[in-house]
Amino acid sequence: MYFVANWKMFGNYKSINTLNKVIKFSKSKAIKKGRLIYCPPYTLISSFFKKFENCLIDLGAQNCHESEDYGSHTGFINSKMIKSTGANYVILGHSENRKKGESDQLINTKIKNAIKAKLKVIFCIGETLIEKKKKKTKAVLSKQIKLGLKKIKISSNIFIAYEPVWSIGTGDIPKSIELEKTVQFIKKKFKGKPPKILYGGSVNTENIKDLKKITILDGFLIGGASQNSKKFIDIVKKTYN
Ligand code: PEP
Repeated sequence: MYFVANWKMFGNYKSINTLNKVIKFSKSKAIKKGRLIYCPPYTLISSFFKKFENCLIDLGAQNCHESEDYGSHTGFINSKMIKSTGANYVILGHSENRKKGESDQLINTKIKNAIKAKLKVIFCIGETLIEKKKKKTKAVLSKQIKLGLKKIKISSNIFIAYEPVWSIGTGDIPKSIELEKTVQFIKKKFKGKPPKILYGGSVNTENIKDLKKITILDGFLIGGASQNSKKFIDIVKKTYN
């Protein structure tokens, strides 16, 4: 199971000390087969890399510029630059960035170039509350998958994070039966072996007890709760107990 910590725009150099608990946990038997991946803001990736030197915790970025090459793009970072920090993952297509105007086509270019740069991609998809109410979830997910992964060979480099937009940061999660059906639907979109599927949206130390019962999931993308090491560890522990 994969546990991806999305720190969003939180954290400063003092946050590095809060990782001691997680490092200790990552070396213990209690982690079972859980794989931890931290996606801090860009400013902290190198410091986290040094901090994680002697453990198996992996690193990712939360977005990247679409260009394969270096260039005059003030304020941006491309996938090659992310790879050079020691990170191995990048989150792409997050709804908070789609909301700012990232199109499926742009996300597709980012994914292609991230793979070229040898990063693994955590590709986020999900419907808004209005789309859900209008019963458009399947149509929205199909479109996001079709356009976002256009001309991309599915391999172990692609993870899909199903994140209903209405669930992010709200405390609401889908009903188990609904979530299971949606994950099945996503898996069936792929002809060969489907990519690993994560669920994201308000995962916490309580609802993990229900979420872990959806055994077709390969892990979780965790925002708010991941910024607290104790809660993050608790989520991993409860997944296995
Ligand atoms: C996210 O933004 O990817 C996320 C899952 O956030 P939260 O867990 O805070 O809902």
